[in-house]
Amino acid sequence: MNLVAAALRRPNGRPTSEARYILDEFISIRNSERGHGTYQPDGYYEELYLKNRSVIEDFVLSSDLFSTTLVHINSVDHYGSQYSYRATRLMGAAPIEMPEPIISPTRIRLHSTCLWDRASSIFALDEFIVFRFCRQCSSEHTFFADQMTNDKVVLQSYPGSHKLEAQRK
Ligand SMILES: [Zn+2]
Repeated sequence: MNLVAAALRRPNGRPTSEARYILDEFISIRNSERGHGTYQPDGYYEELYLKNRSVIEDFVLSSDLFSTTLVHINSVDHYGSQYSYRATRLMGAAPIEMPEPIISPTRIRLHSTCLWDRASSIFALDEFIVFRFCRQCSSEHTFFADQMTNDKVVLQSYPGSHKLEAQRK
């Protein structure tokens, strides 16, 4: 994923301002909070996150990587020499069908779950992340791959512990 690299490093190899900022903050937090200890009690990271929330959220909002949107493809059409996808946005409080289609030269299979850069780049996550109907709660939600073998994948919901087993293609 070039986006991951682009969020942290400029084309000339130097860190981006966001990367420098977050690394400096991590180092000062590490030094003041943690020192050289290794063990931390339960809830420690949650408390640390809440204390540093504005720094972390500033980083997330200013980074191209985290403006990438998770979407589910509901329909596929041709659009000139490109493709037009109707999609559901899988972020925020609840999944929302997007009013405008995604136009992209990339061909994606129907019902794929994808990363979309809010422009024309779209990347299918295949069996790693799926959006499916769940028998355990009788609603549709996102599952993440937990265990994978050559022929099957076991996916898990987040949060909660709903499971889904799928054959690998
Ligand atoms: Zn469920």
